[in-house]
Amino acid sequence: MSTLTTANETPEFLYATSGEIFRAESPFPGVEIAPTPISTKADVVSATAVARAAQLAWSQTSLKHRVVILNRYHDLVLEHQDELASIIQRETGKARAHAVEEVLQVAMISAYYAKNAKKLLTPSNRAGVLPVLTQVKVMPAPKGVVGIISPWNYPFTLSMCDILPAILVGNTVVLRPDEQTMWSAIRGLELLFEAGITSGVVTMVSGPGSTIGSGLIDQVDYVCFTGSTATGRIVGAQAGARLIGASLELGGKNPMIVCADANLNKFLDIATRACFTSAGQLCISIERMYIHESIYEKFLAAFVVRVRELILGAGVGWGYDVGSLVGPAQLSRVTEAVSKAVSQGAKIEAGGGHRPEIGPYVYEPTVLSGVTKVMEISTDEVFGPCVYVQPFKTIEQAIALANDSIFGLSASVITADTKLGKEIAVQLRTGSVNVNEGFASAYGSVDAPMGGMGASGLGRRHGIEGLLRFTQPQTIATAHVATLSPKLGLSEEQWSGILVKFLRIMKALRLR
Ligand code: NAD
Repeated sequence: MSTLTTANETPEFLYATSGEIFRAESPFPGVEIAPTPISTKADVVSATAVARAAQLAWSQTSLKHRVVILNRYHDLVLEHQDELASIIQRETGKARAHAVEEVLQVAMISAYYAKNAKKLLTPSNRAGVLPVLTQVKVMPAPKGVVGIISPWNYPFTLSMCDILPAILVGNTVVLRPDEQTMWSAIRGLELLFEAGITSGVVTMVSGPGSTIGSGLIDQVDYVCFTGSTATGRIVGAQAGARLIGASLELGGKNPMIVCADANLNKFLDIATRACFTSAGQLCISIERMYIHESIYEKFLAAFVVRVRELILGAGVGWGYDVGSLVGPAQLSRVTEAVSKAVSQGAKIEAGGGHRPEIGPYVYEPTVLSGVTKVMEISTDEVFGPCVYVQPFKTIEQAIALANDSIFGLSASVITADTKLGKEIAVQLRTGSVNVNEGFASAYGSVDAPMGGMGASGLGRRHGIEGLLRFTQPQTIATAHVATLSPKLGLSEEQWSGILVKFLRIMKALRLR
């Protein structure tokens, strides 16, 4: 029996004094995860107070200093990639390749923000009320203390990829990771301290979302939440009541449109990755596939063969394609969604079975057909290894089907004609569209924003948008001649007349 960690000491940055512990269960047979201490609501207050006390000094360190830390973090993450991937695998049950992708994504984000920090955060000069005589700069001021509530499905990426830009702009952070995946977050923070952040720059709390997560929203100046749409609505309402900003990265029911001219082999590679990475427990994974009727039978038959060939596994290391679901709740969720669809008339083309002999929560990659609009599975996120396929006649119909969802996170278009792919893309109501990829080309392009339209959320991570959400614009206007009030003994009325003339001249000279 292997143990994730035997560390008995609570890390200094984790505020958890309840005396109670949480025992996460590894989805892998024979693997134990060391328990983690649980915070009290008072710990949330303390962790935020410490982060608040550290914020001013941190924001006054030079940007150069913070960039050095991000560059060091990049190197440390790559140095420890094997260890990190093992922790992620043990806590989430995902295949090694998908755990490594998490690690690489964090390294990419560190390097990207380190390289572009100066360019993205340079204060902008704006036109002053009196040209030359009033100088105006808009500064990207930090929000203060940012609360980050991260989920279990990408525990390392979705904690660190928000922490890094938040601290880069001078915020301090209180992180509340999901209880299932505490060690992925703890190890991520230990390396960040090793990279050079000082005490208080990031603190951590642990415990149930409904008490500790919610308690955190009551303390911070901005909240960054990743999770389901249902919880996102609660988080958004709570943030709204406090008049603090929130970025909400929520659920999806992501469509793929496969055009008549698509190449079969390319489709098979792309679709398999798009549907079954992290056993489908990925917000941007494809759950609906619309295939042109002229190629539908052929593509479906080949897809089913490919899906059945996927090697399932549940253990730390390489050697299999698709891992386990994270635990019993996810297994019930997927099993129930598929059984219900079948009871309503859907047909299982591939998979559809629980495989306890491989691992207690392993579920086969599943392809359904015959899904109709009345079935819940047609609209509700499964968040598991399950996709349904449906033929379409015209591109217009495919676009309408893809857009027929409350969600709008990610979409994919497969076609040999990239011009057509882009024409379809702009008609889709999703935050990202991948032409000739499933999700990786948009998600991996960290210079570009990533987030949802509609019920998939508010705000964006990655790129300049993912950085500026952690700032608030502050205008600093410096007057080089004092005040705009009457001068030279003029009356208010005479002064107003001068101002009217001044505005007319300015417009005529196109100076404003
Ligand atoms: P969830 O909403 O049930 O939980 C997410 C986190 O929020 C958990 O850690 C939970 O403990 C916490 N939480 C619960 N109630 C809370 C409250 N009242 N206040 C604060 N926090 C609270 O989601 P889940 O099922 O654990 O995660 C899967 C969902 O996350 C899927 O819908 C998936 O699409 C979505 N997701 C979205 C993205 C994205 O970038 N858009 C990324 C990953 C996952």
